[in-house]
Amino acid sequence: MKECPDCSKKISKKFFGIRSLSKDGLQPACILCMRERRKAAYKNHAESTKKRVNKNWHIRREDPAYANMDNAWRSMGYYSAWGERRYPIRPWARMKDTLPFYQRVQELGPQYCVDHIIPLGGKLVCGLNVPENLQVITHIENRRKGYSYQC
Ligand SMILES: [Zn+2]
Repeated sequence: MKECPDCSKKISKKFFGIRSLSKDGLQPACILCMRERRKAAYKNHAESTKKRVNKNWHIRREDPAYANMDNAWRSMGYYSAWGERRYPIRPWARMKDTLPFYQRVQELGPQYCVDHIIPLGGKLVCGLNVPENLQVITHIENRRKGYSYQC
């Protein structure tokens, strides 16, 4: 006989699960109470994980600076619009340097975009996503420019 601390019943040892680590080789609580304990632990863990993962989610939605962050990361070569890596990551390109360009684009309106003075995909030369290579121009100007580069 063994007493279960959770339901405080004295029941036969066969209602206790096996736990080789404990002195008597049995689980501390009976099978039914252990089931409840595991359920509670799972729920606790799931909730705390959810909270931790979504901690910054609502901030990201409310702050317009974060909305531009995705585009800034993208152009920094972390990932493309399709989610895959396109350009090599340039470690010296800092988020705080490139982000103002994307913020200015949002202030000016949808007809503007961030342009790379020396294009990233140029045939002769390949530019980088560093602040010195960024400018804010209209989409029409950008389309006209294409991948060409005038010295
Ligand atoms: Zn019990």
